[in-house]
Amino acid sequence: MDSSTIINIQKKLLIWYRSNARSLPWRGLKDPYLIWISEVMLQQTQVETVIPYFHRWIDRFPDIKSVAYAPIDEILKAWEGLGYYSRARNIKKTAEIILSNHVGVIPSRPIDLIKLPGIGDYIAGAIASIGFGLDEPALDANGIRVISRLYDFHGLVNKVANKKILKENLRTLLPNGCAGDFNQAIMDLGSMVCLSANPDCESCPIQRECMAFSRNTQKDLPVGKARTKKPHFNVVAGIFEKNGKVLIGKRPTNGLLGGMWEFPGGKIEEGEDHNTALKRELEEELGVNIKLRDAFGEYKHAYTHFSVTVFTYFVEIVEGKPSAKVAEKIEWVDIRSLNDFPMGKVDRSISNDLQEKLDHASSVDSV
Ligand code: SF4
Repeated sequence: MDSSTIINIQKKLLIWYRSNARSLPWRGLKDPYLIWISEVMLQQTQVETVIPYFHRWIDRFPDIKSVAYAPIDEILKAWEGLGYYSRARNIKKTAEIILSNHVGVIPSRPIDLIKLPGIGDYIAGAIASIGFGLDEPALDANGIRVISRLYDFHGLVNKVANKKILKENLRTLLPNGCAGDFNQAIMDLGSMVCLSANPDCESCPIQRECMAFSRNTQKDLPVGKARTKKPHFNVVAGIFEKNGKVLIGKRPTNGLLGGMWEFPGGKIEEGEDHNTALKRELEEELGVNIKLRDAFGEYKHAYTHFSVTVFTYFVEIVEGKPSAKVAEKIEWVDIRSLNDFPMGKVDRSISNDLQEKLDHASSVDSV
């Protein structure tokens, strides 16, 4: 791409951005901490979902110190419902590292930022360019699509080497001193105009400079791996109920839903019925023999890489005393206090239904 084309792209996109930028609560803040938190929340999550979480987060955790000193359960509770809980755990770890190794100040250079837990190439570029005003590229999925089309780039974008090429292409486009706005302009163009299935090339400010448009290849780009079908798992979970209390366990810190609380249970193995699977799971997880009582409910949820149906049952201990064999710890919790414990979507639904059942029983009793 020659220098006059690059200058045209810079001018046209920045003008377009001034009047079309999405209005977002973290826009224009130029605060590295807020940029970091918003970008982590936005990973794999829709903007509309993130906005209320972002507001609540900055009220409760206005700075690095408040995150570093907060108990992890409080961090996870603030994150509850956003999913990918390793993001919240990494924010806490990173805040602690910044406090102890960087005198509480977020480093500005991507080379230092990417050493911190949960900060990858894109977030490092966003913090550096938007938060610190450095001339650094920040390439998210929208940006990858726009740059692939702008340069008519047909390499597989999942490959690290090809992502590097796209990032360097973006770097050559950055106007001095305006990288933050330019990066955001590219991302906004990708989310509003250069859409994945139907790019609106007729209203695109850089149509004349776009190589894919001139060759009519825009709908073939970017080139990605074919999507594989998500697996589905059937899961059983047991509800131990005693005197208004239920038994829940805290998942081990690492892995899916790490540090969140749940009703004990697990995957149904091939050839098992619900009864056999739940007895085996609760023996393995808690060291108790149980018998199934009534079925409670069926819960479906789709994660990014798989989906589940969770079948829940009230269970009764026949032999043994529950102990945490897999969970970090277990607790008997008042049903009305379940909201105090951070949980994933399925377990929160089970908790809400249990509370509703309890409320219903008390209203019937009081009649
Ligand atoms: Fe995307 Fe079309 Fe604009 Fe090219 S002309 S950047 S394909 S919207």
